[in-house]
Amino acid sequence: MTARLLEGRPVADAIWRDVEQRTATYSATAGRPPTLGLVSGPDESATAYARQIERQFGRRGLRVASLSAGTVDFVGEVRAFSRDSSIDGVLLLTPLPDGVDPEAVALAIDPSKDVDGQHPYNLGRLAQRRSALAPATALGGMRLLEHYAIPLRGARAVVVGRSPVVGMPMALLLIDADATVSVCHSRTQNLAEITRHADLLCVAIGRPRLIGPEHVKPGAVVVDFGTNVMPDGATLGDVQADAVREVAGALTPVPGGTGPITVAVLAQQMLSAAERHLHGR
Ligand code: NAP
Repeated sequence: MTARLLEGRPVADAIWRDVEQRTATYSATAGRPPTLGLVSGPDESATAYARQIERQFGRRGLRVASLSAGTVDFVGEVRAFSRDSSIDGVLLLTPLPDGVDPEAVALAIDPSKDVDGQHPYNLGRLAQRRSALAPATALGGMRLLEHYAIPLRGARAVVVGRSPVVGMPMALLLIDADATVSVCHSRTQNLAEITRHADLLCVAIGRPRLIGPEHVKPGAVVVDFGTNVMPDGATLGDVQADAVREVAGALTPVPGGTGPITVAVLAQQMLSAAERHLHGR
């Protein structure tokens, strides 16, 4: 069997089309573009991600406001963005400089502007199966599964990874979609024994090529969130794509699977926040 490739680009394109339409309507009504407050330290990977967000938002008529250069008061800056009525969403990019507590900074985000579901209020609501701003990567994974009409109700899903950024929210979103979910992590014994039962296997570990064909049930759908940049510059997933393609029914490629969807979902969540504020909801 050669797995069907679940490409992220068509999913991202559909989300961007929705974002562009809603941005035009919002800007005409509000008299200004929807605006993201972006909070990032000097870390190289965070700075590169910030530039990517600015470029992609700018192309669709969304504005990005950045921190004043050399800022040290991250909590104060996030609070200021949270209170500023011309800022619709707040996004915190980590890692922050040494000595800055990322949890304290995340707590300063107004939960109604929390476009990447970083405030515990939103993860808590997700766990309660109430409407919430979810972490964009996990929500992007759900959009991909919806786009390709992967059945979730009653499906046996295994999520490998329990970080609050990807694994845990993915598990919560799948539970909300009526899948039966197991969560594995670094202390899980006999990982393959558990993952081999999955109709849907979602992997967010950050270990290149850890998941091989022995972990995959024949015909399963495999979603690889792994984005591991190797010393030679290549990006590898957490899944051995070449070997797993021979066993799985469908597989997201890396790069080009879940990756392109994340920024589009951030934009879409920001618009939802902006529209709610505009209409006083
Ligand atoms: P993380 O915070 O380091 O969490 C990794 C998780 O994997 C932890 O729960 C850890 O278990 C588990 N784990 C580590 N080694 C394991 C092993 N040998 N067996 C089973 N579980 C293991 O990483 P993250 O932020 O969730 O990111 C995960 C991956 O997704 C990374 O490659 C990252 O680059 C990628 N990512 C992609 C996007 C995107 O847009 N596609 C966005 C964000 C992240 P413990 O909890 O026990 O430590």
